[in-house]
Amino acid sequence: MAEDKQKDSIWSQYTEDDKKALEQLSAGYIDFLSRCKTERESAAEAVRKAEEAGYRNLYEVIKSGVQVKPGDKLYALNMKKAVALFNIGEEPLEQGMNILGAHIDTCRLDVKQNPLYEDGGMAYLDTHYYGGIKKYQWVALPLALHGVVAKADGEVVEICIGEDDNDPVFCVTDLLVHLSQEQLKKAGAKVVEGESLDILVGNYPLKEGEKESVKAGVLKLIKDKYGLEEEDFQSAELALVPAGRARELGFDRSMVLAYGQDDRVCSYTSLMAMLETESVKRTSCCLLVDKEEIGSVGATGMQSRFFENVVAELLAAMGAGGDLALRRTLAGSKMLSSDVSSAYDALYAGSFDKKNVAYLGKGMVFNKFTGARGKSGSNDANAEYLGEIRRIMKKHNVHFQLAELGKVDLGGGGTIAYIMSLYGMQVIDSGVGVLSMHAPWEATSKVDIYEVWKGYKAFLKEA
Ligand code: MN
Ligand code: MN
Repeated sequence: MAEDKQKDSIWSQYTEDDKKALEQLSAGYIDFLSRCKTERESAAEAVRKAEEAGYRNLYEVIKSGVQVKPGDKLYALNMKKAVALFNIGEEPLEQGMNILGAHIDTCRLDVKQNPLYEDGGMAYLDTHYYGGIKKYQWVALPLALHGVVAKADGEVVEICIGEDDNDPVFCVTDLLVHLSQEQLKKAGAKVVEGESLDILVGNYPLKEGEKESVKAGVLKLIKDKYGLEEEDFQSAELALVPAGRARELGFDRSMVLAYGQDDRVCSYTSLMAMLETESVKRTSCCLLVDKEEIGSVGATGMQSRFFENVVAELLAAMGAGGDLALRRTLAGSKMLSSDVSSAYDALYAGSFDKKNVAYLGKGMVFNKFTGARGKSGSNDANAEYLGEIRRIMKKHNVHFQLAELGKVDLGGGGTIAYIMSLYGMQVIDSGVGVLSMHAPWEATSKVDIYEVWKGYKAFLKEA
């Protein structure tokens, strides 16, 4: 049972003050998870919290012509879906930054562009799933609709239905077990197929006896309530996510059960660590990005030039512009690329190497590498950098564990680490162990959330 990892629990080493701070952090995190379920909602909340903490919009500062100087706190928002925050340090920016990076997009069911139809007297929205999901997990549970509809006249309508206790919810239906002999013989990946993940949204006919009257009823409701026409779905970003608030998990309330903890657990703790850090020697940066779950693509994913452009703007605003300065800044930076790691699950013990898997409640996780099939696609962090990270974490009494995802050649996964490493900066994967990763409800430990937050603060101060 990997006895070396099963020493005294971290809980038993906490003071009363630690426990109080842990519960306070968890409560804030549970609230964040409950209110912010999309990248847009998470980015907006990050900006709101940043402004509260004295951060100003970088582009507005640039426009005003005032030079950026040490002590300034700035943020840049990318298409309302990704955010970069900077706390300018005393050292020249060219010497590099300490960067905390995490992603704020999560697996879900996205509504298609021509989604609404009626069949069997029921109205449905057709979806295309986003990210890597086990499709059979997304049927027969309450779903909420989040997102925006951008009308052709330029108005953008925000939608959030299913989170308030008085709201209706939506669902994908499943075949009754009584008729499932054929379905249950299928391979897991085929039990529920992607094209069958359509959302039940109505059953009340507008006018009895008329064709597609239930669909007409749904259209009337969204016209009356939101001023939307059917064709407005063409320019909408609507997502179905598990409805309801995040919860404490277990008799002892030691864990958190919630949708989207991959990767809001690292996003929230990174953001809080960033906002709570005051004056720094090296400039600190917190980067919250979109599209990680589908390969970090697009203008708001980590592969976009957004971050590079913002750093170039920042250098120019400090009177230190130029391509070489930008390259030096990026290459001289150090990063904790944060994402969830799989935690040991006793029910699936055979999938893990017990010596090298993360355990729930054993502290912050560092993955020297990720990837699959012989570390392919991974950023394999340098031993020297890992040594430095260990020194920092020990100095600040942060409990941590070195881990990899699961048994060799069982599968694998990637993060944003390899993209940032292309600049020549030191990057390591770090984060929090999670159970049921990518399921509608994922589980984490409050201890790990607390330790990773401590770890981020130590990194910003010491790296
Ligand atoms: Mn992730
Ligand atoms: Mn993921």
